[in-house]
Amino acid sequence: RPQKPDDVVDMIKQNDIGIVDLRFTDLPGLWQHFSVTLPEITHGLFSDGIGFDGSSIRGFQEIHESDMLLKPDPATAFIDPEREAATLAIICDVVDPVQHGAYSRDPRYVARKAEAYLKASGVADTCYFGPELEFFIFDSIRFEQNQHCGYYFVESAEGEWTSGRNEGAFGGGNLGYKSRYKEGYFPVPPHDTLQDIRSEIVFALMNAGIQVEIHHHEVATAGQNEIDMRFASLLRMADNVMIYKYMCKNVARRHGKVATFMPKPLFGDNASGMHCHQSLWNGDKNLFFDPNGYALTSELCRWYIGGLLKHAPALMAFCAPTTNSYKRLVPGYEAPVNLAMSQRNRSAAARIPMYSDSPNARRVEFRCPDPSANPYLAFAAMLMAGLDGIENHTPPGDPLDKNIYDLPPEEARKVQQVPGSLDESLQALERDHGFLLKGDVFTRDLIETWIDYKRTHEIDPVRLRPHPWEFQLYFDI
Ligand code: GLU
Ligand code: MG
Ligand code: MG
Repeated sequence: RPQKPDDVVDMIKQNDIGIVDLRFTDLPGLWQHFSVTLPEITHGLFSDGIGFDGSSIRGFQEIHESDMLLKPDPATAFIDPEREAATLAIICDVVDPVQHGAYSRDPRYVARKAEAYLKASGVADTCYFGPELEFFIFDSIRFEQNQHCGYYFVESAEGEWTSGRNEGAFGGGNLGYKSRYKEGYFPVPPHDTLQDIRSEIVFALMNAGIQVEIHHHEVATAGQNEIDMRFASLLRMADNVMIYKYMCKNVARRHGKVATFMPKPLFGDNASGMHCHQSLWNGDKNLFFDPNGYALTSELCRWYIGGLLKHAPALMAFCAPTTNSYKRLVPGYEAPVNLAMSQRNRSAAARIPMYSDSPNARRVEFRCPDPSANPYLAFAAMLMAGLDGIENHTPPGDPLDKNIYDLPPEEARKVQQVPGSLDESLQALERDHGFLLKGDVFTRDLIETWIDYKRTHEIDPVRLRPHPWEFQLYFDI
């Protein structure tokens, strides 16, 4: 990856690039873009930025104050293999020309401020993130309209599935090699029909300068996948997540398929999570390791976990930020439901993986997030919760190393559960956001805008529509 503007110019020359595509992330977390020609690069793009209309971007400016600038970050440039014209893509920071500085609702700026806050705190110099994004690849999706409500149908290589039921998979087509229910993890091809597409995505990511470790089919029967990138620092990893989603969607599309990061597209099967592995480092020293601590963790690590668990309900407003997220967070599908720490239990929100006892491998895996999150905001919020735990020496509570179903009911009842809906998480964020405001990392304006956006654009439109299953229950009432 290049470092300075000059490196980007060299990259453009060496690769015969004709188009430079500028990318930035809107508030909900979707990449936006426009393209510029080469003269723009040499005419001050890096120093002055280039203008766009911020009023048309979700969660950004009001119409009367809509002129915004994009400034490319040279360290993010990569050749985009998915575009036919020779294209260099580059991620940008959003600048407010009136305030003459970074724009407070730019998610990338929030991530930058979180990293700066960490350094200034003196606790550590780097926070590493390793998110495990899961996603589905379907053959197609179509929207069926009846007079009462719309209904999505998704189709996988193994047969047709609907969002309401999955028995349809055993209908038509040649299903000789269909994986058995919840046995997607992970027989070889021909059961796994997506091996080659995942490999192609991996090569695309590696060519864009992202280190990838593994890829595999996931547990859900119908085309669920996971590709794991090597951990990186907070801002860099949030950028990587945006590139990752772009490559998954574009490679799938090129194969006539569709990739989705919607957490729970199928009723009755596993959903897609984005477990986030995190650790704090000073230079090459992992501050989360202690050979004598619980699960080889340091006290600092357990306070960090204490912060994550204490603020989890509010954090979920950024980490599991869609109405659909809460259809994932239910027992029986390896998604977390208990706000507790554990070294084994996959139903616990904070797991300490024990695959290796090496100091460098010590980390916490926070399992609540899913891939519908805006990674810049979710990573920044988790770091702020962990730092708040460290500052206040917040204990993580007793480890939940037994199967919760084996606990006596009065013990089991004591374990706090994740919020049951986006509405609950937003209410938790309304009550509990002081930890996010520290160092001005999240502004009040951003938090209020987020809550308002989620209520008016997501919760209400879903709440106000008759649900297909209501017809099953009530039509003949
Ligand atoms: N798909 C599961 C989830 O919703 C996680 C499976 C796993 O442990 O990798 O979080
Ligand atoms: Mg997984
Ligand atoms: Mg995991």
